[in-house]
Amino acid sequence: MYTVTNPATGELVEEIENATDEEVSAAIGRVHLGYSSWRRRPVAERAKIVSRAAELFAERADELAAIMTLEMGKRINEGRGEVGIVVDIFNYYADNGPALLADEPLEIRGGAAVIVKQPIGALLGVMPWNFPCYQVARFVAPNLVLGNTILLKHASICPRSAQAIADILHDAGVPEDVYVNTFAASRQVPSILADPRIVGVSLTGSEPAGISVATEAGRNLKKTVLELGGSDPLIVLDSADLDETVQATATARMRNCGQSCNAPKRMIVLADLYDEFVDRIAKHVTDFFQPGDPADPATKLPPLASDAAADEVAGQVRKAVEQGATLRAGGNRITPGAYLEATVLTDVTPEMDAYHEEIFGPVVMVFRAADEGEAVAIANDSPFGLGASVWGTDAERMRRVAEQVEAGMVYLNRAGGSSADLPFGGIKRSGIGRELGPAGIEEFMNKKSIRL
Ligand code: NAP
Repeated sequence: MYTVTNPATGELVEEIENATDEEVSAAIGRVHLGYSSWRRRPVAERAKIVSRAAELFAERADELAAIMTLEMGKRINEGRGEVGIVVDIFNYYADNGPALLADEPLEIRGGAAVIVKQPIGALLGVMPWNFPCYQVARFVAPNLVLGNTILLKHASICPRSAQAIADILHDAGVPEDVYVNTFAASRQVPSILADPRIVGVSLTGSEPAGISVATEAGRNLKKTVLELGGSDPLIVLDSADLDETVQATATARMRNCGQSCNAPKRMIVLADLYDEFVDRIAKHVTDFFQPGDPADPATKLPPLASDAAADEVAGQVRKAVEQGATLRAGGNRITPGAYLEATVLTDVTPEMDAYHEEIFGPVVMVFRAADEGEAVAIANDSPFGLGASVWGTDAERMRRVAEQVEAGMVYLNRAGGSSADLPFGGIKRSGIGRELGPAGIEEFMNKKSIRL
């Protein structure tokens, strides 16, 4: 069942039956058939349609933001911001796609060759609820320009976002059998991956879902992109203005109610600043991030996406405290609604579950490091390797630390961001492959060598 439940109130708004196996098979047939003509359209035509989609996303930003607020509790202004980056992504691939797909001549020993860049077929996208529009855009925009077709299975709490996105793409001129939304259940994903008409899969979501999809894709020898969880380190080396650093880092952590894969979930502060940093961030999150209605633009802390999500994060915090961590702020579940107080934990050690897990909610963990070397060691002592950030005043020192951190992307004096033209993705258990930027159009591409 796909369901719409307002996380601010707990009210059940809509239920939609899952697609039957026959409907899923028919949807696969459509994107398979759609590929034969879409791949032959000139790239400039595909790019023009993608550019029109960008315009429609911009026109419907308020509608999309309201849907996200209802479905998963996103603050209304954050929803509008999310649509802004979706517009950037569609425009980026519309503008740059044709050049990124140009033939690449290659001098080789005894002759010459050319690499031509071609699509590979119909793809499955499995998407999460935390950024209902942005995650879809990262996968869909480059692949439409490249000439692949898409079967999209969205998170089961986001059916209205899924439908609104499909409507925009079709209204922009993407043929009905080039982008197909399916309300398939996750248990139907293995049979989709076993179907020879689907040639690849991109999943953004949790580790267990990634393992399941990678296993099935491997069994069927299908190309996979996985964008999974993270517990990004944020290293504070020094600060010219500690209040500014505290506010900026707390804002990055609390964005999307802490439900961002690349939020700075582990703050690692050098010993001389640590005590002051902890006091100030505990006070700041308590004073500033007060819970409220996500539809009210003044609200700073919305609910989490569901009661189950809020219970899970509250449980992780409780367990950390039982295992010996110190609660410096928040920690309480607030009902009705899926609310959790903005929380700060310290004294989390490697013996505790929280040290190794992703905490997907408004929870700051702060660690003390004796020096730069220990900060890097703590940062790398994690199963994840998505993003990281380094904060300070000495550009050379920050760059040196950035190079030592095990992560797919590192930001200096900023955290948790993303932009259309910068590749995004992780290493270790955070995933395989990249989205966005030039790399994002290459994942499901046949870079065909032609020996001249
Ligand atoms: P999730 O539970 O894994 O769900 C993601 C998608 O996978 C949903 O469409 C879900 O369908 C589907 N799914 C779940 N289990 C599956 C299975 N066994 N086989 C096939 N599909 C399955 O993740 P989430 O809770 O929505 O998202 C939060 C996670 O995503 C966090 O860990 C976050 O860090 C990660 N994330 C990563 C990135 C990145 O770029 N690295 C970006 C955003 C989020 P149903 O809804 O029907 O269960």
